Amino acid sequence: MHECIFCKIVSGQIPSPRVFEDEHVIAVRDINPQAPVHVLLLPKKHIASILDVRDSDSGLLGRIAGVAAQVARQEGIAERGFRLLTNTGPEGGQAVAHLHFHLLGGRRMGWPPG
Ligand code: 5GP
Ligand code: ZN
Repeated sequence: MHECIFCKIVSGQIPSPRVFEDEHVIAVRDINPQAPVHVLLLPKKHIASILDVRDSDSGLLGRIAGVAAQVARQEGIAERGFRLLTNTGPEGGQAVAHLHFHLLGGRRMGWPPG
């Protein structure tokens, strides 16, 4: 777990300015942004992916949804619209095995995704 780069961001071992932080959740800007606004929302505790979420994590997931809305407003994209997603597994395009949600906005998103 100590090899996980997002755990290192949570612990401060990899310095990363917070867009938002509370007891259980942080939000940081993606290092390789795919849109004018590209923020990652992650639980502080290590959960590998959405497949590893338990019933006892439902409060945490709800909190992340609330934080996503707050950050979207903060970033000025709430009215225009945005995308919130979590990539899962190889075909889902997940590169980092620590659950995170991408908040993308500031440009029109394509559908279907590539
Ligand atoms: P995934 O492909 O797993 O859904 O997304 C991983 C994301 O993490 C990518 O968009 C990538 O740019 C971002 N990322 C990888 N390493 C770092 C890092 O050290 N800091 C930040 N802020 N983002 C990172
Ligand atoms: Zn981790």
